[in-house]
Amino acid sequence: MQVLDGKALAETIKEELRQEVDQIRLAGGKIPHLAAVLVGADPASEVYVRNKVQSCEQVGFQSTLIRRGSETTQEEVLEIVRRLNDDPDVDGFIVQLPLPKHIDEDTVNLAIRPEKDVDGFTPVNIGRMTLGLPAYLPATPNGIMTMLERYGIETEGKEVVVLGRSNIVGTPMSILLSRKGNPGNATVTLCHSRTQDMAAHTRRADILIAAIGIPEMVTAELVKPGAVVIDVGINRVEDASRSRGFRLCGDVDYASLEPIVSAMTPVPGGVGPMTVVSLLMNTLKASKGRLS
Ligand code: NDP
Repeated sequence: MQVLDGKALAETIKEELRQEVDQIRLAGGKIPHLAAVLVGADPASEVYVRNKVQSCEQVGFQSTLIRRGSETTQEEVLEIVRRLNDDPDVDGFIVQLPLPKHIDEDTVNLAIRPEKDVDGFTPVNIGRMTLGLPAYLPATPNGIMTMLERYGIETEGKEVVVLGRSNIVGTPMSILLSRKGNPGNATVTLCHSRTQDMAAHTRRADILIAAIGIPEMVTAELVKPGAVVIDVGINRVEDASRSRGFRLCGDVDYASLEPIVSAMTPVPGGVGPMTVVSLLMNTLKASKGRLS
């Protein structure tokens, strides 16, 4: 089985980005600048945002972290968004989800200017993506597309089954893989919690993408031998043997699939690092002033 090593691939792409930033600097151009807004104290979000900021530093981008406590009001978050929308030095920004319960995520998302929406979550970018127009593509699905492309995994004419239909992962993943292009041109089935007989679908999949959020739910009997498996899930499972009290695992039961699949992403070190790299690539595009 081939391990689809997202960590190593992300490092390669970051090195390419770093060289491009060096060229920009030498030419006296604008250094890409990403801002991240973190509201509240969700421990997983803290880790994700820290990774994003550190990755910016690694490739030579400028980064700004705006942190606010859990008591921050929706209006205060919207004010930060408006300020970032209007700041000519900030090329793109993200508002890390989830937001505290009293803040409506849709309202905040709708306030982000599409030209600065490097997460690719706003209606304009999702619409442009769906129409095949230049757009900032959502980071996780686009990271998976990059991984499929760089590993030379053929998608044309393949049966792809995506598990999970969230706006940030499953749904855009199904759109990107069913569009014309390479990667793309796949026949895509999108499964969710109301799908009947999910196994009948997953067992047909040449490429299976799991984005559900249930630890190790995808076991060997759900998978066709020889399939390529992409595990998006990042789940914390209690583990008293670890000093931090938990371990991370995906939506896929890695050990049971390992003997039968042809290629698979590990967790951690698979899709996660590719998500961060996508965000960096979108920020570079934003700094060049184009949606593409
Ligand atoms: P959501 O909770 O938003 O969506 C989960 C989806 O799974 C929903 O569509 C839901 O269906 C479906 N689902 C839930 N239970 C079942 C079931 N028993 N059978 C079939 N489908 C089911 O999750 P996200 O998309 O935001 O995230 C999914 C996972 O990916 C999480 O573990 C998250 O931590 C991880 N993640 C990882 C990222 C990375 O960079 N690697 C980035 C983003 C997320 P329904 O719509 O019917 O409720």
